[in-house]
Amino acid sequence: MATILVVEDDEYVRSAIIQELSRRRHAVRSAGRALDALREITQNPPDAVILDLGLPDLDGSEALKMVRSVSSVPVIVATARDDETEIVRLLEAGADDYLVKPFSGDHLNARLEAVLRRARATARPSTLRVGALAVDLNRREAVLNGTPLTLTRREFDLLAYLAARADRVVPRRELLTEVWQQSYGDDQTIDVHLSWLRRKLGESASAPRYLHTVRGVGVMLITPS
Ligand code: CA
Repeated sequence: MATILVVEDDEYVRSAIIQELSRRRHAVRSAGRALDALREITQNPPDAVILDLGLPDLDGSEALKMVRSVSSVPVIVATARDDETEIVRLLEAGADDYLVKPFSGDHLNARLEAVLRRARATARPSTLRVGALAVDLNRREAVLNGTPLTLTRREFDLLAYLAARADRVVPRRELLTEVWQQSYGDDQTIDVHLSWLRRKLGESASAPRYLHTVRGVGVMLITPS
C-alpha cells in the first residue's frame, strides 16, 4: 500500500483512476490543478504522483519542473500525445515513467508498482533504529542494547513492520494483512506473537517500554522515554 497523489483536472478520468488505485488498496489523494498538487506534495509528501500534463493552470512540463524543484517523489506523467520526442523530453525533465491516454487500470498499476519498487529499493534504509533497538532488514537481525535477539521469522517480521512505523499506532487488521498475509483471522494470533516478542524485548504488557497495545485500536512501537 502506498499514498498516491493523482493530479488530473478531468473529473471523469480522475475518479476512474482514484477508483482503480483504491481498489488496489492505495491511499489516494487528488488535485485538479498543478499549484494545488505542489502544495500537497510539500505539505503531505505522497509515495508517488500521477501527473496529467494537460492542466488548466500550468503547462505540463512546467508543472513537472516545479514538482522536481521541491521533491524527488516518483512521478508518472499521463499524456494524451503518443509522441516520442515529447516523451523523451519529459523523461529528461525528471518524469520516472509515462502513460499514454487512454490507459487501462492494469497498465497504470504495472507502471506504478515499478516506480514504487525502484523508490523503495533506493530509499529504504537497511537498518531501522528505535531507541536502543536496531532492526537490520537485510540481515534479518534485531539487536537490543547491543545484544542480538533470537526471534522467529514471524516475530522478526512483526518487529520490522512496527519499527518501520515507529510511534504510530498500527491497526491489528493491518498487521494481519501485511505481516500474516491474511485477510481475516482472530486477535489471538497477534496477541500470542506480541506476548512472545514482548518477553524477548524484556518487558511485559503491564509495564511496556517499546511495545504498547492501544486497546481497541492496535499496536505501537515507541522509543522509551
Ligand atoms: Ca487534463
